[in-house]
Amino acid sequence: MTIPSKRAGGATQPAAAPPPTASTVAAGWLHTARFLTSAPELHFLPALTVPEIAFVGRSNAGKSTCINTLTQQKQLAFASRKPGRTQHINLFTLGKQGTTDAVLADLPGYGYAAVPKQDKIRWQQVMANYLVTRENLTAVVLLCDPRLGLTELDDILLDVIRPRVEQGLKFLIVLTKADKLTRSEGAAALSVAKLQAGGGDAMLFSAPKRIGIDAISQQLWQWAHPPASGDAMASGVPAASADDPAQ
Ligand code: GDP
Repeated sequence: MTIPSKRAGGATQPAAAPPPTASTVAAGWLHTARFLTSAPELHFLPALTVPEIAFVGRSNAGKSTCINTLTQQKQLAFASRKPGRTQHINLFTLGKQGTTDAVLADLPGYGYAAVPKQDKIRWQQVMANYLVTRENLTAVVLLCDPRLGLTELDDILLDVIRPRVEQGLKFLIVLTKADKLTRSEGAAALSVAKLQAGGGDAMLFSAPKRIGIDAISQQLWQWAHPPASGDAMASGVPAASADDPAQ
């Protein structure tokens, strides 16, 4: 509903809409996510120049749920589960009004016991190749169930990306299913993950309790829209507030 406002002359005018907050901008931007392409190996992916943010994690860590929740789309990441796409890198574009200003990359979950060994090895090579050489890769989000903690395969992945993190690749550990933890367990898991994240950060997330959605969304938006030459307001959106239990 538009609330009319009185002007000096007595005429009524619609009140100006309040300026968008960092939360609404980030949420609106993520909602524009659309499937772009699916590729079994790095060299089948289109060469892109826009920032690319990769989501990685063990199968069952909650990656699809997290992507669907952040983009407010029920089925988006489940596109990655269609027959023939489960071992593919799936790309989703982001951007308003037909423009693409960033891409999300959904990498297949690893560590699923039923996958034949040969496929596991092949997939680890594809993933390492992607993480080391994808030129427009700007950030990696590692999804982790805090009740299991980082597993051996997560550690291998961390070793693979560490040199790039040292060179400026952004990195975030998202501790999923935070609703399964007590407040103190969540806080403890978060401080361990922040240490494990090295040059990166860690946040708690829960789809049913909606923990962390805003903080993670704003982080992704900021990665894709870095302020020019250190000007914090260059992006036109105020800095994120830190009142979210995820941080
Ligand atoms: P993926 O294999 O990493 O894509 O994981 P999914 O997104 O399919 O989630 C694996 C399982 O964890 C499913 O049964 C989800 O319903 C459940 N799950 C995912 N996110 C959450 C969460 O935030 N809280 C709870 N309690 N369960 C979750």
